[in-house]
Amino acid sequence: MTTIAINLHQIRTRLQQACVDAGRAPDSVALLAVSKTFGPDAVREAALQGQRDFGENYIQEAVEKIAILREMDWEQPALAWHCIGPIQSNKTRLVAEHFDWAHSVDRLKIAQRLSDQRPDGMAPLQVCLQVNPDGGTTKSGVPLEEALALARAVALLPKLQLRGLMAIPDEAGDFAAQCAVHRRVRQLFDSIAASGAPGLAAFDTLSLGMTGDLEAAVQAGSTMVRVGRGIFGGRARAA
Ligand SMILES: *Cc1c(COP(=O)(O)O)cnc(C)c1O
Repeated sequence: MTTIAINLHQIRTRLQQACVDAGRAPDSVALLAVSKTFGPDAVREAALQGQRDFGENYIQEAVEKIAILREMDWEQPALAWHCIGPIQSNKTRLVAEHFDWAHSVDRLKIAQRLSDQRPDGMAPLQVCLQVNPDGGTTKSGVPLEEALALARAVALLPKLQLRGLMAIPDEAGDFAAQCAVHRRVRQLFDSIAASGAPGLAAFDTLSLGMTGDLEAAVQAGSTMVRVGRGIFGGRARAA
């Protein structure tokens, strides 16, 4: 087995254990493999082990990777691409044309552009709103108290399907502190789901947890963890 295959197996086992420890069904949390900074061969390696969902931060890098993978000679499974990095206005078209999901939408203007630019033949872009649960001023993410209003507006855009919330909490010290931050996002998720706003029929995704804090995220109710280093190893370039 390759290193990626072994790592992927270990992360799946860890994720299932986290579910069991949280009193949840072992396969109730989806695994998003974060392949940023790693090349197409690494993605293929993981895909050959049955991994289907891949997350990318850098939009240009992702679009090139997707194209190379498509041209490679292999029995290609259908992969789903998730944009998890900051989306500037001048990158919305690339996201709308090449991705299946965008987890990092935190402004209405960006959501509107994504909806306007989503090609007619494609399924709606699946969208999570990125929220900022610890109030760090330098980070992206809509403040928690503004998230419901943004959700109501985004849910009405025709070419988007609002799926849930995403957060990247600051590194919190221990397990309890990690759980506390994730739980704030979970509570917001529950209150938006219960708001009765139109367009929330598919609001079912909490994109929470990374290599370092996936157990706490699963404990708090994550439905999708985004794991990079735990699958592909350390990144040479800061990200
Ligand atoms: C890089 C990144 C991840 C993965 O982080 P790891 O610590 O490598 O698991 C998850 N989510 C986002 C938004 C990221 O940028």
